[in-house]
Amino acid sequence: MINFFKQKIKSFFNLLYPNLCLHCSAKLKNNFFYFCEDCLGSISYITPTEEPYCAVFDRNPFALSIIKELRRQKILSMPKIAASFIVIQLAKISWPIPDKIIPITNKTIFKDHRYYLAKEVKKFFPKKILKNENNNILVVTDVLSLHELEVIKKKYKNQNIYAIGLCFDFLEDSKLWEN
Ligand SMILES: [Zn+2]
Repeated sequence: MINFFKQKIKSFFNLLYPNLCLHCSAKLKNNFFYFCEDCLGSISYITPTEEPYCAVFDRNPFALSIIKELRRQKILSMPKIAASFIVIQLAKISWPIPDKIIPITNKTIFKDHRYYLAKEVKKFFPKKILKNENNNILVVTDVLSLHELEVIKKKYKNQNIYAIGLCFDFLEDSKLWEN
């Protein structure tokens, strides 16, 4: 019985802090969480342009692993981890400070993974900064599709829309997104 509880507690902590790299499954060294040293070292960020939309990562397997875990919603801290990559990228872009941060949402799903992702991005901004004065809206999503961005622009017309995703839309029809 004690072993049963030990196992349960262990699997609970694995949800919080998995001990294998989420991308390559290598065993994590001390002081590494979620991703191994090699995978973290291989991250390549997209260089932001003047456009009011941007992605964080190139289309690479590491980014795909993050998005897959985010969509699975099995690891409780995944929205926070993904949000931190978005915030790192935002720090490099000279977009105005947002007045509002919203997710691109799927109306058929109540609070999907993008809702939690946008919520975590919002936590990085002090409340007093988000003022609702200048109509600057930051749209947050996992895979940024330019079609979805057009829909958002129509919905929030006369407001300044800036959109960021972990990646641009790709492989949306691919079997890689299944599971
Ligand atoms: Zn790894």
